Amino acid sequence: MGCLQTGGTALGFDGIVQLPLTEKTDMTTDSVFLRFALPKGQKLGLRAGEHVYLVLPDSSGIPVLRPFTPVGESDETVDFVIKIYRPNEKFPQGGEMSQLMGKMIVGQVIECRGPYGRLSYIGSSHFRIANQADGRGKAEKKVVSFVNFVCGGTGITPVIPILKAISKEPVECAPRVRVVVANHTPADILCADMLEDCCNHPNIEVYHAISRANHAHQIGVGPSVPVTGRITVDMLSRNLYLPTPQGPTLNLVCGPAKFMTLAYEHLHELGHTSASIREF
Ligand SMILES: Cc1cc2nc3c(=O)[nH]c(=O)nc-3n(C[C@H](O)[C@H](O)[C@H](O)COP(=O)(O)OP(=O)(O)OC[C@H]3O[C@@H](n4cnc5c(N)ncnc54)[C@H](O)[C@@H]3O)c2cc1C
Repeated sequence: MGCLQTGGTALGFDGIVQLPLTEKTDMTTDSVFLRFALPKGQKLGLRAGEHVYLVLPDSSGIPVLRPFTPVGESDETVDFVIKIYRPNEKFPQGGEMSQLMGKMIVGQVIECRGPYGRLSYIGSSHFRIANQADGRGKAEKKVVSFVNFVCGGTGITPVIPILKAISKEPVECAPRVRVVVANHTPADILCADMLEDCCNHPNIEVYHAISRANHAHQIGVGPSVPVTGRITVDMLSRNLYLPTPQGPTLNLVCGPAKFMTLAYEHLHELGHTSASIREF
């Protein structure tokens, strides 16, 4: 396989499409796999790393929309893994959209808008970084040698299509990738099986930061590595690529707002420049 193979960039639909739910499977007590049918002969056509907005009406009919990243797409279907934020003491209402999606029944239709995202992987260590959130406008092409992903909770989902694309590339074409994924317990890890598959590629390393330390030992079924505790500068310095003259490094962060702030701070402390830190 040569190094010039790149991902497709054609958009297969024009902004908005209605997708009927065809399959729903509980993955854990608070995450669900949803498969939707695509319109005949059409694909979402997202580049790896891009996302869509999914829209459902709330109980008063008011549209609720949130960004989501498909974790798989075939000629006929598109798949999402959704973490459901149920009500608890700290969040008595829970999450609005995730609960609506968790209650979806087969045959129900969801509106899908997109594609969105400034950043996508086009193959052979090349990223496309646009100056608009919908991926349009002026875009720069960046060739990188090293990629760090720092993800909290559902922030792993935009990373999965990029890892899948890189995991199919020959070693000499693919960038060197390190992923730190932060969760409370191993049961909270979304797409754990896909991550294990991807880190069979020699260039991809995955480290799980498990904040509730007594659970960390439960990971270890595949090649990914458990690291006890929350993300700290010290932990990231051991599990991410540091700035190096050996080639450019791209740092990608995704997760809840507080997690992102912390990730930015830590990456700066490690010597990474603002220009090298991006979000989806
Ligand atoms: C680019 C991108 C791609 C994404 N892709 C996916 C994806 O593929 N799959 C996915 O599941 N999510 C994904 N997300 C997250 C998603 O967009 C929503 O933020 C998430 O589903 C929560 O929305 P909500 O309406 O349920 O919560 P909201 O009503 O918006 O609640 C706001 C916040 O309150 C907090 N909260 C509420 N209840 C709880 C609880 N029980 N425990 C802890 N915190 C709580 C959470 O921090 C939650 O985000 C993605 C986000 C981005 C930015």
